[in-house]
Amino acid sequence: MATYVFPPAATTTLPVRGSDDAFPVGRVFCIGRNYRWRADEAPPTEMPAWFMKPASAVVPAQGALPYPPGTADFCHEIELVAAIGRGGRDIDPAEVEAQHIWGYAAGLDLTRRDLQQQAKRAGGPWEPAKAFDHSAPCTPLVPAAACGHPRRGAVWLMVNGIERQRADVAELLWPVPELVAMLSRSVTLLPGDLVYTGTPAGVGALQPGDVISAGVAGIGQFSMTVDQAPNPHQKHGDSKK
Ligand code: MN
Repeated sequence: MATYVFPPAATTTLPVRGSDDAFPVGRVFCIGRNYRWRADEAPPTEMPAWFMKPASAVVPAQGALPYPPGTADFCHEIELVAAIGRGGRDIDPAEVEAQHIWGYAAGLDLTRRDLQQQAKRAGGPWEPAKAFDHSAPCTPLVPAAACGHPRRGAVWLMVNGIERQRADVAELLWPVPELVAMLSRSVTLLPGDLVYTGTPAGVGALQPGDVISAGVAGIGQFSMTVDQAPNPHQKHGDSKK
């Protein structure tokens, strides 16, 4: 067998609550709009969009959160995260919970909103907006065997003690089994994949020094502090030339 030309990167892992075990993270799938953001919004007729982040973007949701380069609009999105323990394709929604979900966590789908809006206008890819370093903080995973499959519970986020986001898991427009089944019709899901299930209304910008407190009731809660911007004058790429 050939030797590696350099040591392969270590597998990203998340701790498991109440255990010394670690959950090896595979890919990160993120679901687009999956809560009603306005009271008068019509029920959705189509499945939501999805996008990905690399496993290397997943970090424990604790301590300092670096302010990323290339943005002036760094935004929080609190989400329920479902963790896949057994993969598959064309999964029946009725079998998702019993057969495929390993556990749950609370996570942040951090977003460089200005780059996302630029991508939407230009019809460009979302990776610059979504797939940056430290863009997917996540709490320790809770095994479904311990927490069950959440049907309700607050999904909330505060910045400096002021509430920004609050909804209930019961308000997910597409519940977790439907989301996992949808993804499995498009790609083969694998053990270790995470699914960020979408964020409620109230997304907003973070500033250096902000203290984030957030969580999903019964699943996990956390606090992080936004670090100073590495270079507040840095512009994204060369796109402004
Ligand atoms: Mn999101």
